[in-house]
Amino acid sequence: MDEYEFAYDLLVVGSANADLVTVVERRPDAGETVLGSDLVVHPGGKGANQAVAAARLGARTALLARVGDDGHGRLLLDSLGSAGVDPAGVLVGGAPTGVALITVDPSGDNSIVVSPGANARLTPGDVQEAGALFATSRVVSTQLEIPLDTVAEVVRSLAPGSRFVLNPSPPAPLPGEVLAACDPLIVNEHEARVVLGTDVTGEPEDWARALLALGPRSVVITLGGEGALVADGTGTCRVPAVKVDAVDTTGAGDAFTAALAWRLGAGESLADAAAFAARVGAAAVTKEGAQASFPTADEVAALCR
Ligand code: ATP
Repeated sequence: MDEYEFAYDLLVVGSANADLVTVVERRPDAGETVLGSDLVVHPGGKGANQAVAAARLGARTALLARVGDDGHGRLLLDSLGSAGVDPAGVLVGGAPTGVALITVDPSGDNSIVVSPGANARLTPGDVQEAGALFATSRVVSTQLEIPLDTVAEVVRSLAPGSRFVLNPSPPAPLPGEVLAACDPLIVNEHEARVVLGTDVTGEPEDWARALLALGPRSVVITLGGEGALVADGTGTCRVPAVKVDAVDTTGAGDAFTAALAWRLGAGESLADAAAFAARVGAAAVTKEGAQASFPTADEVAALCR
């Protein structure tokens, strides 16, 4: 029996965006107009993605986010509802829903403009008013597509016995108060470089040790098709990738983070939780899209038979 009882396995605090995608023959130069394919609109944003990924695995999941009172906001609420995410913490209004305008060329290279919209209006006050969600969540996960002072307020709002997981994406230098709460801090190579404020040299084990010296209780470095590395005060450990035919890596990091956070909350060690998360990340790259590619627990099990 746990010392603490929680209604939610995972509370994600983060962004919710509509991804507006069009395929172009060539991405436009300055002052140029090009024609694109019919527009496709996907639910996205790192916060909504993590919440959907966790709920699809079976985690009892809530999302604290802000969307606009518009069609994109309703699209996001629908996708969260279909995945089984509790939307009680999704605030509506104050600005248009965040949007990512994405043009993709035939080689797969893209250009992206993000209009944060309502995500930029998720305030420390919103976090304070969501006290009941924090009091009932075993793990709280966030990213940096919302204001940094809101992330700092999340850290101050954690319930006793709960755990904080941060993927600093898009990366920014982090205040000591936020770094000290991370258990773990989850970064890829680019994010590691920005958080460290210096070029990363040597092996991922060296980056992990340098990151640990900044104060987080543990660190996970994601390495794409090479898997991941976990590190804490006891040492470092590699987590191999599951071999799959990768089709689209969009959202793999969000699926990995959600799965890791959920399994840590269930009491698994960092290495075991990361091994499960690597299977979830691998399953996610076998399908197109972000949320559409996130697996159920049965699909993860089938991948490894
Ligand atoms: P994102 O681009 O979504 O922000 P990221 O850089 O944070 O992603 P990745 O390292 O690309 O994260 O992927 C997360 C995890 O998913 C990896 O650590 C790995 O376990 C798994 N994964 C990613 N790509 C592959 C692949 N090609 N084959 C197998 N597993 C993969």
